[in-house]
Amino acid sequence: MFLLYLFAASASATPIVQLKLLVITTGSAEQDQGLDLIDDMLDEMGVPYDVLDATQTTLTTDLLVTNSQGNYNGIILTDSSLYNWGTGSVNGSAFTLAEWKILHAYERDYQVRESVLSGYPMSGEYFRVTYDLDYGMDMSSMAAGFSFTGVWQLTNNNDIFEYVNQTHNLPITDYTITTHPNFDPDGPVVTPLLTDKTSGKIMVSKLVYADGREVLYSSIANAWYLLYSQVLNYEFLNFATQGVFIGSRYIYLAAHIDDVFIHDELWDPETNTTTGEKRYRNSAHDIDNIVSANSQFTDQYTNVNSFKLDLAFNGVGAAQASPSPVSLISTTALSINSVDQDSNQTDGNKINVGTSSSMRERGLLQFELPDEISNNAATATLKLTTKKVAGGTEESTGSICLMTETWTNEATWNARNTVNAWLSSGGSFDPNYCIAYTVNRNRIKLNITSLINHWRTTNLPTFDLLIMADSGTLIKVFNSEANKERKHPNLKISFAASEPLTDAIVTNRDEFRFLNHTFTHRDMYKSSGATYDIAFQEINDNIGVWQRLGFPEFTAEIQTLVTGNHSGLEDSEGSNQASSISVDYPEGRNPALFESMMDLGIRYMASDISRPNQDIPSYVPETDILLLPRYPTSLFYNVTTPEELTDEYNYIFYERHIEAGDNPCTISGAICQPRSYSEILAAEAQTTFRHMLTFRPWPHYFHATNLHDYGNGNSLQYDWLYAVTDYFNQLLNLPIINMDYYSIGVMVEEKLAAQKANLRGTWDRNNNTVSLIADDAIKGRITGIAGGDFYGGQHLITTDIDSLGRTFIVDQANE
Ligand SMILES: [Zn+2]
Repeated sequence: MFLLYLFAASASATPIVQLKLLVITTGSAEQDQGLDLIDDMLDEMGVPYDVLDATQTTLTTDLLVTNSQGNYNGIILTDSSLYNWGTGSVNGSAFTLAEWKILHAYERDYQVRESVLSGYPMSGEYFRVTYDLDYGMDMSSMAAGFSFTGVWQLTNNNDIFEYVNQTHNLPITDYTITTHPNFDPDGPVVTPLLTDKTSGKIMVSKLVYADGREVLYSSIANAWYLLYSQVLNYEFLNFATQGVFIGSRYIYLAAHIDDVFIHDELWDPETNTTTGEKRYRNSAHDIDNIVSANSQFTDQYTNVNSFKLDLAFNGVGAAQASPSPVSLISTTALSINSVDQDSNQTDGNKINVGTSSSMRERGLLQFELPDEISNNAATATLKLTTKKVAGGTEESTGSICLMTETWTNEATWNARNTVNAWLSSGGSFDPNYCIAYTVNRNRIKLNITSLINHWRTTNLPTFDLLIMADSGTLIKVFNSEANKERKHPNLKISFAASEPLTDAIVTNRDEFRFLNHTFTHRDMYKSSGATYDIAFQEINDNIGVWQRLGFPEFTAEIQTLVTGNHSGLEDSEGSNQASSISVDYPEGRNPALFESMMDLGIRYMASDISRPNQDIPSYVPETDILLLPRYPTSLFYNVTTPEELTDEYNYIFYERHIEAGDNPCTISGAICQPRSYSEILAAEAQTTFRHMLTFRPWPHYFHATNLHDYGNGNSLQYDWLYAVTDYFNQLLNLPIINMDYYSIGVMVEEKLAAQKANLRGTWDRNNNTVSLIADDAIKGRITGIAGGDFYGGQHLITTDIDSLGRTFIVDQANE
């Protein structure tokens, strides 16, 4: 029985082929946009391949076969005729008839498939004789254009384009030839896969020839910059290799939220600037809201059902364990009055506070509360020293109120600074946060704990108080110019152990993942003076907060780091803006930072993919720290609402060019017309979709401001996630993998190691096995063998392979 089997197998044996792809082109990646499209994907997935430039190299059987083994298990042609009228052209093809016949004989004898990325549908007798080509189309029905609506025809083709959403049309937006099949009995059997909605003509089809050859043929121009090409791209590989190849693809999406716990400055739509006068720190409500937004999000989309945000936090903003009490002196005090409405009284060591029938005088006090303590006040006591005024009453009374706008030394009755009027003249304040005072023996002593704790929710940069006398009273209040320190306006605060935002995040900590974004968000540029000690402390203090607050996955995730502004890689002289004095990575990196990182066991560091030399995963020189790029988005760090975002977006991409006298339509990266919020989200969704279709695992980064509940539970962050996921699901039918940063780092390191180890293999179709071997022990990623993940209708496995080799059972999972 065994002998009989062997005999039968060898009689009809299918030759063994290597697991390697051959891409036949009409030039280099710069010259051949089809190669430019496919090689990025193959590199990212780790698929072994050779490129044969048909204009330079003659195809011979020796290139295809070694010792009767096939050297390739799949062929990709970037153009149907290898269109070429340059050097080596044969009737407009880069191949001679003999070369075409060698290729087709190999495909037939070694049972190897071919994918054709684009090109003319050469069909019928003439092309068969001249090129040995026949794409089975009725050339008299050809129509070419630049805009088609692609309709999927996949009902009986479960293993082709299994990953697309076939119920949704695919817009085709570049040069395409559409045709009907010609039903020529001497040509291939044509199965349409993607047709034009209007004419019903074919754009992508599967061809089966009488000799058994199988071709996936697209007559659509494909290039890396075309969105639909990114959709089609995977099947060109998958079809050609029959779904069995080294390498695998997943779709990734992760959202890093930077600056958690601290304030970020806000965009001011009035001035088109970010001044720091407006700022935002999340409320506890934002966090509760985001937790429920995420559970709605993951409930709604089954392909993102384990999605979590990664919070990159700055521990300085979290509640401290037991902050020491503070005693503060008012930094500024002045008096404004209703008679002389355009000046103030700041001179001398006292300010006037009084109310009479002819004049109101009010005092303004400013305290700089320590930004590094976010804990609630347990008790806060304000002490003012007053001086009795001739004719004044002993029992002076009034109120001290929390102001709702900041002001400067130039504040007057009418205006809070030299530019802006008060929202209400005489100083803007919140009448719900006023506390009555009574002067007692030239002293005002007031418990203002509730004002401080409310102030923390307002995001105002300074703590400002308005002193208003009751009618008929007049006092003078000593300011900090008073010669005796005990007379200075004084605020003593002792702190509670908690504050609402920290409590909310700690309560919900298992709903998130966490990342170290350094303790105070200090710049790590060498030029900003970030020494070893400073860097060590910034990172280590944040590690301490991680442990104290009990955030999850400490051991793994603490090995990752996101520096403030991604600083420390290039050197921008402390500036976040590109400028002539900046030194790019790696020359501009801060070696002291990396020394401290290595001493703290950090292995993965975030870089900004948009900055020079930071767009690929690479080891920082002289370290074993791997850079993991992240994508910026148009959800800027300084916006909390659609209004702010839309204003800033249109200013950056449109208005400022108009203001500069330029036409934005002629400027790269600018837009011709301002966009609405929904148009911005649509553009973001497309951009993000393109990122996802590169199969790269890089996260997108955002800021805590984007988590703000701007109304009815909505946030910029989840608007973005819904827009992206909706767009993705319209076109594709695949799970979206949401990985933590540490695991991304481990995976990328594994891929880099595999690249170096020359992972290779052969496919024995008779035994239905694949044998793999590598120069070193690595994690190999393979598609189409039994076990592993079931993803997009295929088996994807990640497994140990070394120089001894291993053999696996093939499972193409075809229905
Ligand atoms: Zn940051």
